[in-house]
Amino acid sequence: MISIEEARQKILSYVGVLEPEEKPIMDSIGQVLAQDVYSDINVPPLDNSAMDGYAIQSASTKGTLKSNPIILKVIGEVAAGSISDKVVRLGTAIRIMTGAPIPAGADTVVQFEKTDEQERSSSGKTLDEIGIFEEAPADNNIRRAGEDIKKGDLVLKAGVVIRPQEVGLLASLGYARVAVIRRPVVAVLATGDELVNVGEPLPLGRIYNSNTYSIASQVVKYGGVPKILGIARDTIDALWGKISDGLDADMLITSAGVSMGDYDVVKDVLAQHGQIAFWTVSMKPGKPLAFGTLNSEDGRKVPHLGLPGNPVSSMVSFEQFASSAIFKMLGKKDIVKSTISAISESNVKNKDGRRVFTRVFVRKDGDQYYANSVGPQGSGILTSMGQANGLMITPEDVALTNIGDSVEVQMLDWTQEQS
Ligand code: AMP
Ligand code: MG
Repeated sequence: MISIEEARQKILSYVGVLEPEEKPIMDSIGQVLAQDVYSDINVPPLDNSAMDGYAIQSASTKGTLKSNPIILKVIGEVAAGSISDKVVRLGTAIRIMTGAPIPAGADTVVQFEKTDEQERSSSGKTLDEIGIFEEAPADNNIRRAGEDIKKGDLVLKAGVVIRPQEVGLLASLGYARVAVIRRPVVAVLATGDELVNVGEPLPLGRIYNSNTYSIASQVVKYGGVPKILGIARDTIDALWGKISDGLDADMLITSAGVSMGDYDVVKDVLAQHGQIAFWTVSMKPGKPLAFGTLNSEDGRKVPHLGLPGNPVSSMVSFEQFASSAIFKMLGKKDIVKSTISAISESNVKNKDGRRVFTRVFVRKDGDQYYANSVGPQGSGILTSMGQANGLMITPEDVALTNIGDSVEVQMLDWTQEQS
């Protein structure tokens, strides 16, 4: 039996960062940028107005007062998207909208509120003149060309995870497509003579195959693309037959058939058609876990993670191992799930020195997180995963977690309730 860290290291040593693909920027969210992104343009491209107002020369406002405003001649108007062909001189102004390029000759913009425009409009006066209420310093309300990004700047470095703001940045540079590390395809296969697929009647003695769906959903959650292979019966031939359909994937995940029972044939398949790297990990739930590589026809060695069959064990094991493998293939840097510190509100016994994961609900009270067991912790009780938002850790060398103890919790998700 090896530790979770040893098992994770072993698994990670068999998977590598995948190759880049080019795709529309809208499809790249959550993926890792595979190219450095330089700008071919200045953003903004020209000096432009940050306000609706009047583009003028600062010198035109010297000595002006609200009680006795200097009057400037309005020689034109410019909106965002167009360029004025007029030149602003001492004593003249051009009416300007936010985002419009600053006309030649102007060195400042006075916003509408600091002019008599409103009075003029409401008293029916023409707007071919404008009174300025205050002296306007040079450079006011002007966004300079290249203020955000300069032509030639390195804007995004390969390796960053694309978020909505990166998509916006790419768009602001005019990129329609971008190179990102492709998503791993993860084949998912359930094994067991007792399994019936969803949507079919349930004969006596059988159970529905839930693992395929929880595992495939976890694949999606962590950024992979699931390839569902269905259900294999508990013989080496049946299992190998189904597995063959998944050997074009980047990784294969099976569930069940890895314990000590008579029909637990996953290890046998690994031994016959590949190599076992390890079997059993010091954790609870989830001790039986097989990992190795399978030989595909084209000579590839496909990583194969054999998760335990119990629905909770399989999900908790996925959180520890498969999530990190997917993150690594995606090119992410943070690949091990982090934990938060909390105070335990439950007692947990650790009978045989494994790392125990207790399904808990974490809530925040003031600055402190509290973790409370959500109830029965049997490895088949999937409803408890539904009620949990975290996995509370009792380390291998701690025989008892007591109420009030400081603990680490691996979060399954964050919802409004904790914030
Ligand atoms: P095994 O490792 O094959 O002995 O399975 C352990 C337990 O998990 C048994 O109670 C199985 O019935 C159950 N189990 C195995 N596969 C699935 C599955 N795909 N969906 C739900 N439960 C399963
Ligand atoms: Mg079985």
